[in-house]
Amino acid sequence: MAFANRPTQPAPGLGRRSVLRAIGGVAGAGLAAPALGQASNRKRVLVLGAGMAGLTAALSLLRQGHEVHVIERQDRIGGRLLSVPLGDGMFTEAGGGHFRSNMPYVLAYVRRFGLPLLSLNDGLPRYIVEGKTGEGSNPAGWPWALSREERNVTVPTMLNQYLYRAGLDTDTVLDSRWPDEGSLDRLGDVTLGDLIRGVGASEVFCKLLDAHGGTFTSGSAALGTIPDLAYHFGDQNLFRIRGGNERLPSAIATAIGRERFALGAEVVLIDQSGANIRVATRDGREFVGDAVISTIPFSVMSDVEVRPAWSPGKRRMIAEMEWDKTVKIIAKTRSPSWLTRNVRGWPMAGGDRPWERVIDITGNEPGGFGSVFFYLNGTNADAVLARPKAERPATILEEFRRDMPDLFDEVISTDSFAWSEQPWIRGSFGGPPLGGGWMVREWKIPEGRIHFAGDFTTLKSGWVEGAIESGLRAARQIDLDARPEGNPRIRQEL
Ligand SMILES: Cc1cc2nc3c(=O)[nH]c(=O)nc-3n(C[C@H](O)[C@H](O)[C@H](O)COP(=O)(O)OP(=O)(O)OC[C@H]3O[C@@H](n4cnc5c(N)ncnc54)[C@H](O)[C@@H]3O)c2cc1C
Repeated sequence: MAFANRPTQPAPGLGRRSVLRAIGGVAGAGLAAPALGQASNRKRVLVLGAGMAGLTAALSLLRQGHEVHVIERQDRIGGRLLSVPLGDGMFTEAGGGHFRSNMPYVLAYVRRFGLPLLSLNDGLPRYIVEGKTGEGSNPAGWPWALSREERNVTVPTMLNQYLYRAGLDTDTVLDSRWPDEGSLDRLGDVTLGDLIRGVGASEVFCKLLDAHGGTFTSGSAALGTIPDLAYHFGDQNLFRIRGGNERLPSAIATAIGRERFALGAEVVLIDQSGANIRVATRDGREFVGDAVISTIPFSVMSDVEVRPAWSPGKRRMIAEMEWDKTVKIIAKTRSPSWLTRNVRGWPMAGGDRPWERVIDITGNEPGGFGSVFFYLNGTNADAVLARPKAERPATILEEFRRDMPDLFDEVISTDSFAWSEQPWIRGSFGGPPLGGGWMVREWKIPEGRIHFAGDFTTLKSGWVEGAIESGLRAARQIDLDARPEGNPRIRQEL
């Protein structure tokens, strides 16, 4: 598959004129001209979706003097940043749970909006694999038949070496211009497991990697999994936002101006067959603009009628992108009692068991309680989804307690969140399947006046950093001067 970095350019059809008119619905409130900018090339941009991609795109264009309107299906702002109160001033996260210091955009936006942070521990897990248990803190005592060089080092450290042998490193793969053509050709058709087995990884190392990173890790397409692991294994400094990660999209929305949002507005039609581009929502509102930035997850794009119909490449990309189902089982405990067992962090336990992985996000949250969630994917998610919602937490906690009875003290409250059951996304993360490297080029090409954003239009799917990168990319396709907030320390420009 050939891939070329394309210079970002305005899409065809985006002229310098401002020929917009609002028809019907919230036109009075939502499309009131913002008191910004007077450039002759001022455009009216309709942003579909108020998650991090849509919000960062909207704010950067607004700063350049364009008219922006954000149309969001839900009654809330934030998309997959969704914070859940746990009482006693604590919050857990149903979606995006943590950030790391190797995420320059996230750092810049958090700093720009002055949001206070909590620090979290990186993973020092207990593993249970093939019926045997090993402590992350004591690799010398691991019971598995690892190769000689896999002994006495941690799973992240060894993975970093395998990536190095495969010509990769955790820094380069996070560059927004990666993958280059050669990497795309080389990695497009291979799973991560096959890639690292090819440079010496043992079968049981791959199982430990799955215990640490989630069951999907070694069997997933290398192209998307490597940047994912690079965030996890390239930096040990974790944080989340005190009072909930959702405070970040909320702060950006306030900066944009709440009057520029239409909430509870499910887009059902995007029509660019006429002189302007027209967007209609299920409740009968209509909006007209020069350009659309769509962050609607491809998993629900089939609910949207598009005129003219998608080109073959876009239709195939939308249909073939793969979406995980993730279930989180949330628990608040009397105390972070696992610390006394020398396990902690992201993850604090993992294995080839139905409970899959436990993530400890307590860190230095005040109050003295413990805060964890089980993070289930694939067949583990399927098994728990087959149960009634009310039974899910107890089932998983019971399975976990059977395997690791000494880690939790009293469980004070539980909850669960199933991403495949959310009608506005019906999944958790989207990415190219094996052999889907061609999508990397496709999602960057606008479809007429429709520009694509959303973390799933980057290889940093499942990360807010990817959502921001995609939002800025789409904004720059409309205005090359669109800029991020703050002063992110990114080494390469998009
Ligand atoms: C379980 C889980 C764990 C995660 N953990 C982390 C983590 O630890 N760290 C991290 O950085 N990231 C994490 N993420 C990823 C992070 O949450 C996402 O990268 C980011 O929030 C995606 O933003 P987005 O704008 O691309 O998409 P979204 O937030 O999904 O926004 C899309 C928006 O489009 C709206 N929409 C859908 N259909 C329509 C329609 N027809 N009309 C109008 N609007 C529509 C949706 O309601 C939604 O608001 C996690 C995500 C999940 C699900």
